[in-house]
Amino acid sequence: MRQAVVNKPAIEGGTPARAEKIYYGHQYIDDADIQAVVDVLRSEALTCGPKIKELEDKLCRITGAKYAVVCSNGTAALHMAALAAGVGEGDEVITTPITFAASANCALYCGARPVFVDIDPETYNIDPEKVEAAITERTKAVVAVDYTGQSVALDPLKKICEKHGLTLIEDGAHVIGTKYKGKANGSIADMTTFSFHPVKTVTGGEGGAVLTNDEALYRKLLLYRTHGITRDADLMEHEPEGAWYYEQVDLGYNYRITDIQAALIISQLDKLQMFSERRKEIVARYNEAFGKLPMLFVQKEIPESDTTRHLYILRIIPEKLRIDRRQFFDALAAENVCCNVHYIPTYYFPYYEKLGYRRGLCPNAEKLYEEMISLPLYYAMTDEDVESVIEAVTKIAVYYGK
Ligand SMILES: *Cc1c(COP(=O)(O)O)cnc(C)c1O
Repeated sequence: MRQAVVNKPAIEGGTPARAEKIYYGHQYIDDADIQAVVDVLRSEALTCGPKIKELEDKLCRITGAKYAVVCSNGTAALHMAALAAGVGEGDEVITTPITFAASANCALYCGARPVFVDIDPETYNIDPEKVEAAITERTKAVVAVDYTGQSVALDPLKKICEKHGLTLIEDGAHVIGTKYKGKANGSIADMTTFSFHPVKTVTGGEGGAVLTNDEALYRKLLLYRTHGITRDADLMEHEPEGAWYYEQVDLGYNYRITDIQAALIISQLDKLQMFSERRKEIVARYNEAFGKLPMLFVQKEIPESDTTRHLYILRIIPEKLRIDRRQFFDALAAENVCCNVHYIPTYYFPYYEKLGYRRGLCPNAEKLYEEMISLPLYYAMTDEDVESVIEAVTKIAVYYGK
C-alpha cells in the first residue's frame, strides 16, 4: 500500500526532491546594503563614527527600549550583560541547554557556574517553574533564550526574577522581529541581547547589541565595550588633566563594532518587516504540511508571542517511524535538503563534562535533541524551494512511517 502511493526516497535510489542543494540558512543582501557599506568605506570613520549611534537609535525605535549598546557580536553582548548584572566568581546563572553555547559560556567568562534548567516539552523554551525551583542563594541572573524566535514566557520569568532579586537577561539572538503581548522583544527583560551573525534574521557579517531600559546598566555596558575607559568627568576619580584626558575606571574589553557593520545592519533593519513576513509565510506553510503527518510533531506556539521565526524545527515522533533522527537527516541530505541540528545540549560538550556536568540533567531537552532537525528557513527561499523541502520531508516521513 505504502509503496503504491509514495515516491521512493533518494537514499533508497529514488529521484531527489531537488536538483540543487539547499541549506538551512542564508543571508539576503541587496544593493542598498552594498551601497550602505561602500558609503562608510568612502567616509572618514570606519569605527567609532556616526553609524554606531544611528544603529543604536534605530534599535531603540524598533524595540521601544530606552538604551542600546551595539557591539562586536552576540557573545560579547551576553558577556557584557552578565558583567553589568554583577555576575562574578561563585555565582550561579540559570539557562537552557537547548541553545548556542554562548548563553552558558557568558557565565563561565565571569567565573560563575551555569545551571541548566529543562525546557517545556512542546514550546522548547525554558520552563519558568523549573527556573524558580533551581534558584539558590548563589543565583544572580537568568539567561532566557527565545529559542527559534518564539518569545520565552517573559511575564512569569520577570515575576520570578523580581521576587528573588535576579537580573533577567534575554538572549534574543533569534528574536528580532517578534512581539510578546504586543510589545517588541528587547524592551521587556532587564537586558536583551541580539546577534547579527549571517544566519540570523538581520546581519552585519558579525555584530551584536544589548538593549535595556535601565540607565545604570546602560552606563556599565558602555564601559565594558571599551576597556572600562571613560571620558566622562563625572565617572573619573581624578581631576581631568586636559582635553586629552581619559581614565580606565573598570576592566572592560574591546567589544566595539565597526561603522561598516553598523551601516549594513541599519540597511538590513529597513527590511525587517519584509524579512519577518516572509519567514512567517514559510513557517505557516511548513506547519500546515507537517501538521497532517502523524509521525511529526509541530512546535507549539504560545498566543502571547507574535513570532518571527529564526529556526524551523522538524521534530520526528520515533515511535511512529522505522528510522531515527540521524537516518531522517541523512535521507533529507540525499534529497539535497541540507539541514542542521540546533542544538546539541550545551552540557554534552567535553568542556562542560570536564566541569562536572553529566547527561540526564534535562530529560525534555535531551529527548528533543534526539528528535529534531532544523529545516531551511530564510527570506530568500522561493515558493519552489519551500515546496521541495515539504516534498522531501513528506516523502521520507510517509515511506518510513509505521
Ligand atoms: C548566534 C547566537 C549567539 C551568539 O551570537 P554571535 O553573534 O554568533 O556571537 C548567542 N545565543 C544564541 C541563542 C545564538 O543563536
